[in-house]
Amino acid sequence: MGYDSTNIFAKILRGEIPCKKVYEDEFALAFHDIHPKAPVHILLIPKGAYVSFEDFGEKASSQEIAGFFKALSKISKDIEETQKGCRILSNKGINGGQEVPHFHIHLFAGRPLGPMLSS
Ligand code: 5GP
Repeated sequence: MGYDSTNIFAKILRGEIPCKKVYEDEFALAFHDIHPKAPVHILLIPKGAYVSFEDFGEKASSQEIAGFFKALSKISKDIEETQKGCRILSNKGINGGQEVPHFHIHLFAGRPLGPMLSS
């Protein structure tokens, strides 16, 4: 599947739609999810146009990949609620439940998060 630049996260990156920003650098942008599923629910996205983690791993430069995961580490470290533990998750495709076709990692924290999958 090719990258669709009309997706909502592409619009956020272009500044066409607002977001509650948590962190930004040259490689990544992090912001609060609009429908949080935990007291802390942050989305981290790369600045580049990648559909999924698979697309990102395949096509992004080593610098982009390193920058993205450094940003993830920094966000986690900076957020008090993650210090008791947190979870990251990335959905891909229909069975993965991916709604927005721009690679993103969810970061959840702020309460015990329960089993890894609901069923
Ligand atoms: P996915 O299901 O693709 O893994 O997750 C997409 C996430 O994006 C969902 O948790 C959804 O609540 C969030 N989301 C969708 N539209 C917007 C938006 O316009 N702004 C923000 N901040 N989050 C959004």
